[in-house]
Amino acid sequence: MAHVRCRLCGAPATETFVDLGMSPLCESYLSAESLDGPENFYPLHVRICPSCLLVQLPEYVSGSEIFSDYAYFSSYSDSWVAHARRYAESMVASLGLGPEHLVTEVASNDGYLLRHFVAAGVPVLGVEPAANIAEVARTAGVRTETCFLGARTGAALADRYGRADLVVANNVYAHVPDLLGFTAGLAALVKPTGLVTLEFPHLLRLIEGRQFDTIYHEHYQYLSLATARRALATAGLGVVDVEELSTHGGSLRLHARPGATGEASTNVKAVLAAEADAGLHRLAGHAGFAEAVFTIKRELLEFLLAARAAGRRVVGYGAPGKGNTLLNHCGIRSDLLAYTVDRSPHKQGRFLPGTHIPVHPPERIAADRPDYVLVLPWNLRAELTGQLAYVRQWGGRLVFPIPRLEIAP
Ligand SMILES: [Zn+2]
Repeated sequence: MAHVRCRLCGAPATETFVDLGMSPLCESYLSAESLDGPENFYPLHVRICPSCLLVQLPEYVSGSEIFSDYAYFSSYSDSWVAHARRYAESMVASLGLGPEHLVTEVASNDGYLLRHFVAAGVPVLGVEPAANIAEVARTAGVRTETCFLGARTGAALADRYGRADLVVANNVYAHVPDLLGFTAGLAALVKPTGLVTLEFPHLLRLIEGRQFDTIYHEHYQYLSLATARRALATAGLGVVDVEELSTHGGSLRLHARPGATGEASTNVKAVLAAEADAGLHRLAGHAGFAEAVFTIKRELLEFLLAARAAGRRVVGYGAPGKGNTLLNHCGIRSDLLAYTVDRSPHKQGRFLPGTHIPVHPPERIAADRPDYVLVLPWNLRAELTGQLAYVRQWGGRLVFPIPRLEIAP
């Protein structure tokens, strides 16, 4: 990949942000039968464009390969579902949405968000590329089209259903290899007077929190407000406001409008200033992240090896995509982490990609009473500390690997 070009500005994306080595697709959970078969590994070598500073993973794997049969069901996380409900309620109230309006959501998943607009009597359209997940949404009464958003499909959807008063793009802007085509699609879907909101993990928080496990093949870019604003501007969308959210380790929610120019809001100025202070508006400000990642790897391996040597049992909690980046990068297999558990029945009974660690139902932990539970979805720490409080009954302890190894008291 000597000739990687920046997908935003076209300049050669020659600089390394971090190179995590080779990894399988993080949502490619394996069945018992497929454990003996070959497995595809792809580079996780994240670049940064010296010209526009977009942090990006080259398209080693095509989006259609990843997202046409995706295993991620939004509805299996309590805090995410609550987050979606609060968002929907506040948008209905602040925009005065009713039966004469349209809310279109891109990457609408299983309808976890749009169902709240449906309940409020607002017409909706979901756009979801994974056919299996779109079907779940339709069954739940959420009108959903199965396709990838691009300039052409955006225009076709607008022709068929009309342009939307509100276009929602939550946790998808980082996931699109055709960043400019997707942005054009957003612009095509929204009314000239409408609003687009986008949520994506904030690069600033990724760096500060050493969240390297959020790097995987599904995430083609790692956005700051500065680079997202640059990308949206290519389709005439202007950022009018920004909110900082705690979701996914720290996200931004941008509010953008067609043709919006003029003075940036106070919030926009504040976030841009924080990014500038952290060095994110300079190439040199991105250095040092890779070394922090390798420190986490050493600390986690030292803990697991010491636990093993002392005869302690360590199991995992959760089977999120981010866990697979962590485990694969650190080379952790079932000799060091016997198994993990997950609430999603779609993952239970399967095996993690690359590491082949088995995934069981959560009840397994109470039955086995392990010494340590390594929490892989650390972004749900508050929720999981409550859910897993019972581990302390037998003296078990929760372990959080990121931002640095911490064994909860
Ligand atoms: Zn660039």
